[in-house]
Amino acid sequence: MKTGVRQSGGLRFFVDFCECPVSGRKLFYICRMIIPLRTPKLLKRLMPSCVWDIPTEKNEIYLTFDDGPIPCETEFVLDELDRVGAKATFFWVGDNVRKHPQVARKVVERGHSVGNHTFHHVVGWGMSVEKYLEEVRLCDEIIRDVTGLETRLFRPPHGRISRGQLKVLKTMKTVVMWDVLTVDYDARLSRKLCLSRSSRLTRPGSLVVFHDSVKAKKNLRGVLPEFLDYFALQDFGFQLLDM
Ligand SMILES: [Zn+2]
Repeated sequence: MKTGVRQSGGLRFFVDFCECPVSGRKLFYICRMIIPLRTPKLLKRLMPSCVWDIPTEKNEIYLTFDDGPIPCETEFVLDELDRVGAKATFFWVGDNVRKHPQVARKVVERGHSVGNHTFHHVVGWGMSVEKYLEEVRLCDEIIRDVTGLETRLFRPPHGRISRGQLKVLKTMKTVVMWDVLTVDYDARLSRKLCLSRSSRLTRPGSLVVFHDSVKAKKNLRGVLPEFLDYFALQDFGFQLLDM
């Protein structure tokens, strides 16, 4: 499949292209643009054992960074957080901790929280409970080996976790989802829209997801500094989750 992407003026839709396998003709179809969004209340009610936001009256935001640690990207995030005196929570992929232990240690040394995001960033749906738990165990193990830390925090990659997996994991972990998804990983999304919608959707107690990954580089670098400044100017604090 050959894919080229065009964004429309309204930014809510994009055109995707593929080739017809029979005629070889170029076909296009219109897809809805994935834009930053807040988790619907209904979904939060359907999975009440997960943490979706932190109830508070205070001007506090809970930033989370998924899929690291990655050289350069994680270090960029750490410097930006330090710039405004923010703390955050990093959900790590175990294999990245194995590859980049020195970056992982920097996150801990600079006073942030860390959580488990499975060893290979696996999608829970369609995977046996045993296999999924092994992924979680391996990630815990490497975090312990590299940093000496034990964490109760767990975030399922893509938020895709089966009922059976959740039933077991909630007895061992605090399963952390999110309130605001910035969709920073989608390079088709303009920096402007990513920033404006993410800022508009965030409120006191929001758990906001960014990614310290190579895939999210464009929007992470373009959006995070302004996002931090926007809320810091309004006297918001950025808090971490207790491990
Ligand atoms: Zn992830």
